[in-house]
Amino acid sequence: MPAQDSIPLVTVSSRGALRLKSGHLWVYRSDIAKADGVAPGALVHVSDERGRRLGSALYSSSSQIAIRLLTSKSIGESELLPLLHQRIDVAVRFRQQNVRDSDSCRVVFSEADLLPGLIVDKYNDVLAMQVLTQAFDREDVRQTVAMALAEHFPGSSLLDRVDPHIRELEQLPARGSQLVYGERSATVFTLNGVRFHFDGLGGQKTGAFLDQRENYAAAAPYAHGEALDCFTYQGGFALHLARVCSSVTAVDSSRPALEVAEQNEQLNRDAHTCGEIEWIEANAFDLLKDYSSAGQQYDTIVLDPPAFAKSKRAVDTALRGYKELNLRALKMLRLGGVLVTCSCSFHVSEAEFLEMLAASAADAGRRLRILEKHGASIDHPALSSVPETAYLKCVVAQATE
Ligand code: SAH
Repeated sequence: MPAQDSIPLVTVSSRGALRLKSGHLWVYRSDIAKADGVAPGALVHVSDERGRRLGSALYSSSSQIAIRLLTSKSIGESELLPLLHQRIDVAVRFRQQNVRDSDSCRVVFSEADLLPGLIVDKYNDVLAMQVLTQAFDREDVRQTVAMALAEHFPGSSLLDRVDPHIRELEQLPARGSQLVYGERSATVFTLNGVRFHFDGLGGQKTGAFLDQRENYAAAAPYAHGEALDCFTYQGGFALHLARVCSSVTAVDSSRPALEVAEQNEQLNRDAHTCGEIEWIEANAFDLLKDYSSAGQQYDTIVLDPPAFAKSKRAVDTALRGYKELNLRALKMLRLGGVLVTCSCSFHVSEAEFLEMLAASAADAGRRLRILEKHGASIDHPALSSVPETAYLKCVVAQATE
């Protein structure tokens, strides 16, 4: 009997089948017609209710996303690990060809690399993997991932970064973050020539929003004068702005994030690439309100808040939040000044974001000239048929009369 006959079959509803035929990789539990006795994390074959085969997928017994399609072919268990290995090879090669001026990037971006359930970030010589599903938590799958990464990045360490909430959702036993191989869990890494600390296991977790790497570089040619970086985290934009602006004020509500930001500033001061930065622990909404009432003005303002809309229902509230921030920032921007404004809420579309921006500018009595529009950096590619992979919007605009 061919090996693939032992692969369990999951039958999806016509809605689920349509979704897969449109190129999406997910089928929600509500669109599963039959999945009798399928083990958590199993490789499954998928068919519609008429018995037509739709491909092979990874199954989760607990997530709302019950299956994530791997391939439209029907593959056997013996083909699974080689396929995953080969997909990692392709993902690594793509970054080697397309990531410049940096020793760090996202090496595997889950669905976008057809490895749904796996994220791998590279911080210089330390790799950090995140397992998001039961299938990628399988020991044989973990070993394949580790082996492929060790082959591509000899001498690097690999960390397993655990998100306890995800393990709970996937009903996986609790485990802590740990080194998979290698000795180092901390390093210094470089984005566009700016240096940052990374510590994957230390008490004070560090890291970076690698998806903004190209946007830091995109903003730099326009940034000038007195700059304000709201939601700075560990100084991503601020440290880049400090190379071109006369002064930078950077704001975040998290003290631990700002402590790392100051250490990052020191790293770059040694290299004589960094101007003075004032780090302020505050709620950015309150600070913008106070500063704009006090008549404070800036030449460059960055807004990079956390995702305001975690669900479709939250979009209106999120847009009100974005409007408040952008309106206040625009009131404080000198004529000719530059606004770098971001949204990482997938549920807020680019069109809605631009509309909010136009309305904010109108209320501030300004017009905005859009200089550049970006998504996430190239190492976070988006899959056109999986809209959830295109979440980040970054607009660089100039205030005019
Ligand atoms: N711009 C950063 C990433 C920002 S992530 C970079 O490029 O690295 C969002 C940040 O917003 C987090 O550091 C979080 O601590 C901070 N934050 C969340 N709510 C806030 C608030 N109301 N005021 C100020 N900072 C806030």
